Amino acid sequence: MSGTLYVVATPIGNLDDITFRAVRILREADIIACEDTRQTRKLLDHFEISCPLVSYHDHNERERAAQLLAELENGRSVAVVSDAGTPLIADPGYRIVKEARERGIPVSPIPGPSALPAALSASGLPTDAFVFGGFLAAKSGQRRKELEKWKDAAATLVFYETPHRICETLRDIAEILGERTVVIAREITKLHEEFLRGTPLELEAELSKRPAVKGEFVVMIDRRSAPGEFALGIEDAVAELTSRGVAKMDAVKQVARERGLSKHDVYQRLEGRLR
Ligand code: SAM
Repeated sequence: MSGTLYVVATPIGNLDDITFRAVRILREADIIACEDTRQTRKLLDHFEISCPLVSYHDHNERERAAQLLAELENGRSVAVVSDAGTPLIADPGYRIVKEARERGIPVSPIPGPSALPAALSASGLPTDAFVFGGFLAAKSGQRRKELEKWKDAAATLVFYETPHRICETLRDIAEILGERTVVIAREITKLHEEFLRGTPLELEAELSKRPAVKGEFVVMIDRRSAPGEFALGIEDAVAELTSRGVAKMDAVKQVARERGLSKHDVYQRLEGRLR
């Protein structure tokens, strides 16, 4: 009889977040497959777990999955963990889980921490529907295309982001998605946990004035307002952008795009105000 493949969630910062069941499964597993053996060894030492570790990451996934599936078919149990959080959520594990399922090997999740639900649950943004886009592209052109794709989704948008790209990403969000509420969750469950809320340009300004932008980030973006439900009028929306240093022409373009208007419409509104 085949062994079971356990997909085990581990803490995303605070070690107290591991579940009793995760500790038990990791103690009982014949093999633990992990991304970085040194990282997982620290976790196992903390909980006094000794179990053979094998590395399983993006670069050896194919060969390693074949070896681990053979072990499972020989009746051994395997626990997959990632460096933090839930495996397969923007982390390795997909290949082995898919192939185990195809071969009829039992796969069992051991649920626990993940940055996605942790961030969303405390964000104050609507949670009735959300889209998780994983990491946005590293290059701005591609990232903008991805944002464009989700523009009209009737859902909160959730992305993982790195500290060195967060400001650039916020600028792209401002440009493509416009004036929406954004919440950034940083360092969840850690000493410097914080949730920042504002428009994308407000948050960009807040992070840019810090001496260094550090930590791990989840970016959440409220859905597009229903037509006519913008927090600011057209004139104020343009004024807000220009007060942040956006050129008037770009501000007009952005406000027009957000509201499905032509630039001409926006200019007319602005001129009407002057008269
Ligand atoms: N599998 C993990 C999970 O379940 O959340 C995610 C792994 S992914 C490689 C790492 C990214 O997750 C980070 O760049 C960050 O965007 C997000 N993340 C992980 N831990 C976090 C934390 N404590 N606070 C905020 N974001 C976190």
